[in-house]
Amino acid sequence: MFACSELYPLIKTGGLADVAYNLPRALVQLGHQVRIVLPAYRGLAEVTPPPQPLCRFEIIGYEVALLVSHVPDTTIPLYLIDCPELFNRPGDPYGDGSHPWPDNALRFGLFCRAVVDLVENHCYGDWLPDIVHCNDWQTGLVPLLLADGAANPATLFTIHNLGYQGLFSQQTLAELGLPEEVKGVPLWDFRALEFYGELSYIKGGIVFADAVNTVSPGYAQEVLTPEFGCGLDGLLRHCGARFSGIVNGIDTDYWSPAKDPDIDLNYSVESLADKQANKRGLLARFHLPDDENTLLLGMVSRLTEQKGIDLLLDALPALLDLPLKVVVLGSGEAQYEQRLLVLAAQHPDRIAFHSGYHEALAHRIIAGVDALLIPSRYEPCGLTQMYSQRYGTVPIAHAVGGLRDTIINACGRAVQGESGGASGGEPWDGVAGTGILFDDYSVAGLQGAVASANKLFQHAMLWSCLQLAGMKQDFSWAASAREYNRLYHRILR
Ligand code: ADP
Repeated sequence: MFACSELYPLIKTGGLADVAYNLPRALVQLGHQVRIVLPAYRGLAEVTPPPQPLCRFEIIGYEVALLVSHVPDTTIPLYLIDCPELFNRPGDPYGDGSHPWPDNALRFGLFCRAVVDLVENHCYGDWLPDIVHCNDWQTGLVPLLLADGAANPATLFTIHNLGYQGLFSQQTLAELGLPEEVKGVPLWDFRALEFYGELSYIKGGIVFADAVNTVSPGYAQEVLTPEFGCGLDGLLRHCGARFSGIVNGIDTDYWSPAKDPDIDLNYSVESLADKQANKRGLLARFHLPDDENTLLLGMVSRLTEQKGIDLLLDALPALLDLPLKVVVLGSGEAQYEQRLLVLAAQHPDRIAFHSGYHEALAHRIIAGVDALLIPSRYEPCGLTQMYSQRYGTVPIAHAVGGLRDTIINACGRAVQGESGGASGGEPWDGVAGTGILFDDYSVAGLQGAVASANKLFQHAMLWSCLQLAGMKQDFSWAASAREYNRLYHRILR
């Protein structure tokens, strides 16, 4: 049973939705039976095939209906926890678009209790999962609530982003009718849910799941340190071998330049030159001068500090000293949208910004630009660097977490500001790769990486080597699903 708070293509704010759609499908290919459970957000009750009501139950005074449907375009059963009072709202799963809903503790606490009810009481018939695979803080109370029953399924808790922890007030414990203690530990205790005076949902998963993982080996290492651990590094170190990292895959059918219906001209390793038509189309769409020979950079991202949009904004004036153009697609914090709008107005020939979430445009940008900027401060896994490599678009990324695990740096020491090397200090001395990574998280670091990209871009042969090496990487879900399969078996043993 895969419990999650987002699911592509029904409801998505980030990479979790993609994982929730693709990992279960890859697990089915390996012979697993998988079912998914999600809150019935507004509009989901109207998906096709229309969900059928299975049963009704009451949780802490709320009427809850269990609906069943299928994940679109699959045979995977999808359970929807329908409680209109809490979930039938405009906006995204977590807020009205600007602010989180004030009752998120209740909303996702009730969701967790409903998942546990449906597992423990076999609400959906006689199918009993061996494992409940929980994802992020919104499902953090599920491992806790399943920890005490000997007959309960095992639990895996996956952290997609440690920066989001689900911190609420102590009184939530009583509001949700949670037990006083689990496995002999009082819940309001630092060994359980208490976290510096607040109630932490993510700790419910980390402390009580049979195994915990995150979405890349690199990030799994980083979160053991105070710099990346968001206050939970000590607890994660304490998990020892119970904690690991498994890198995400991508949907290589959906993100395929050879069949993508959203792009101007399809292309592949054999017809890489056709990528240029997408660049021309993108430049035209954004009313940028049709100058194919200058480097076109893109960014497709949530506009938050985590994604390094502030670093890009600080670096942009200096980056414009190079002959390049930039296209940004993003939605998020108003301050960043505002600064992007101003810069785009000041440099209409060099910078274009589309505000909002636009799936088809994301495909067009990833196909049309030469290089994709991913200056994330930290990155649990990241997906766009894998998409871009598939599309022969060179990622320029901060060397952290999953970015470091999935990009082979084409640039050697020169990127970090050291020159020298066998052939006179060119940034690509002796190194084959698929992208450009920078270590130094600063304007100078990003600027150095973009300057290296621009230098490489001038050498058509070298640039196409980089593109082709990226396009040939295997980012399919099959390999990741095999790792999860091994982890599930380890948990069951
Ligand atoms: P995160 O989950 O932290 O936001 P990921 O790189 O793991 O970051 O996943 C982001 C996903 O969301 C990718 O599929 C990316 O293409 C998509 N995305 C982000 N912002 C936008 C946007 N404004 N429009 C369309 N797609 C977007």
